[in-house]
Amino acid sequence: MEIQNQESISAAAKIIVQSRYTIALVGAGLSVGSGIPTFRGAGGLWTKLGEPSNNGYENFLADPKAWWDQNLNAKIDPERTKFREAIEKAKPNPGHLALVDLEKICVLKHQITQNIDNLHYVAGSKKITEIHGNRTKLRCVGCDMRWHRDEFDRITLDWKQTLPPKCNTCFGIVKPDTVMFGEPIPLSTLNTCVDETRLSDCILVIGTSATVYPAAGFPREVLSSGGKIIEINPEETPISQTATESIKGPTEDSLPKLVTEIKRIIGDDPTT
Ligand SMILES: [Zn+2]
Repeated sequence: MEIQNQESISAAAKIIVQSRYTIALVGAGLSVGSGIPTFRGAGGLWTKLGEPSNNGYENFLADPKAWWDQNLNAKIDPERTKFREAIEKAKPNPGHLALVDLEKICVLKHQITQNIDNLHYVAGSKKITEIHGNRTKLRCVGCDMRWHRDEFDRITLDWKQTLPPKCNTCFGIVKPDTVMFGEPIPLSTLNTCVDETRLSDCILVIGTSATVYPAAGFPREVLSSGGKIIEINPEETPISQTATESIKGPTEDSLPKLVTEIKRIIGDDPTT
C-alpha cells in the first residue's frame, strides 16, 4: 500500500506539474483530519439524526421571521450542538496547509469546496469558491451580497429585534450563507465553478466521492475535454474508476507528500 501510494504520488505530481491549469474539488474528507465528522459517514450528523428534510429552503422562505426566531432562540438538540462545537474548535490540518502551499507556488489556480467550515480561509487560501456557502457568513437572497456575521452585526446593530434581517442594499431577506436543502446554489457561485472548470486541464478531487450534482459534474467536464482527474481519498469512490491517478490514504497525510514531490520536481524545495 505504502509503495503503491508513493508511486501514485510521484505520478500525480508529474501530471500536475505538466498541467496548465490545475484546480481542486474539495469535500468533507479534508476536514475529517481537523476533527469535523462528515455528515453521512460513520459518526456523521445525518447518520445519527437521519437525513434532513428536503424542504429547508422552502420552510425558510415561507416564514423567514419564524425561521430566524427559532434559529436564534430555540434550544438546539445535543447532537447538533456537539457538531457545532466540533466545527467551532476545529483548526486547519496539514491537508489545508498543503493546498495553501500549492496556491502560493502558483500550481493550484482555484479550489471549489463543498465545505462550509471556513478552514480554507483560516489556513490562508485565497482563491476559493464555497459551493455550499460559509457558516461564518450571511447572504442576501435578493442580490447574493455576503457579510461576515460580525460585520453584519456591526452595520445592522439591532437586526435581532426586527426579524428577519434585511439587506442594506436591496432590502432582500438575509439568510445564513450555507446552502439549505432545496435551495439552488447562488448563480454567481455556480458560474465561477463552471468558468474555472472550463479553464482546467487537471482537477484534484480531494476527500469527496463527488456523487452529488453539481459538484459531480466538474470532474466529468474536465475529463470530457481531455483533462485529467487526480483523486486523493482514503476510500475507493466512483471517481476512482475514471481518475488518472488515485492516491489512497488520509488527505492530511497524502497532500503534504504530494506538495513535497511537486516542489522537488520544480526545484522549489529549500531542502535540496
Ligand atoms: Zn441584497
